[in-house]
Amino acid sequence: MEVIVAKTAGFCFGVERAVNQVYDQIKNENGPIYTLGPIIHNEEVVRDLEEKGVKVLNSENEILTLTEGTVIIRSHGVGKHIYDMLKAQGVQIVDATCPFVKKIHRIVQEQNLQGRRVIIIGDETHPEVEGIKGWGDARTMVVKNEEQMEKLPSFTGEKLCIVSQTTFNYNKFKDLVEKFEKKGYDILVLNTICNATQERQVEAERIASQVDAMIVIGGKNSSNTRKLYEICQKECKDTYYIQTLDDLNPESVNSVRSVGITAGASTPKKIIEEVHTNVRIKF
Ligand code: SF4
Repeated sequence: MEVIVAKTAGFCFGVERAVNQVYDQIKNENGPIYTLGPIIHNEEVVRDLEEKGVKVLNSENEILTLTEGTVIIRSHGVGKHIYDMLKAQGVQIVDATCPFVKKIHRIVQEQNLQGRRVIIIGDETHPEVEGIKGWGDARTMVVKNEEQMEKLPSFTGEKLCIVSQTTFNYNKFKDLVEKFEKKGYDILVLNTICNATQERQVEAERIASQVDAMIVIGGKNSSNTRKLYEICQKECKDTYYIQTLDDLNPESVNSVRSVGITAGASTPKKIIEEVHTNVRIKF
């Protein structure tokens, strides 16, 4: 049987880098070790880290209780005031903010200094967007759709800078930018969308169109895995959504000639390899 594993399956560059940084800190015994929020939306990884002594801080109040140790900032990044809080507590900071997100923080700060009001196109409740907003000033605003955009005040006479949440859909970003442009504002548009998600989707779609069965691995609550599953199912009706190898029904793939495998952004390599090895050996 031919088995094709997507090159882009699993962690993107930024998440892999952040997770590795946590394991590096454990190796260096820089304890006590904390992460600001779960380092990744994968229960197995978070549990493994907990077993190794890594604690998750879930609120700013918890930062105020720290007196020592190392705090790791995850790939989503955080606002400037969080760095200030951590410094004031005297803890060591390990900044695992994805460099693509860090770049947006710099843009927001610089553009503010140059007098532009920053508009972030994204979801205000997403931690990455909260972090980006935290590098702006009181004028910084977030919009995610036309409805929200129409409720914004007039910016006539102001200079604007538009950036995007890294995982925002490009077409929706383009549509909103066009609407801003139609209003005749002086706008600097910086497309800060990261291609990791799109590349994973394009590759999954291509593989699904070539194989008899497709396996998509990822957490049931992972929206990017669900999206991958939907894309693959359009191309290959025998597409299976599994969290781990245990969910794979052997009968589903034992009579096909080719199988494709992809995985969501929070799926560790170990699980992908386990599924790959088992599909190859057993079927
Ligand atoms: S910006 Fe891209 S590479 Fe960085 S964490 Fe987000 S999706 Fe991953």
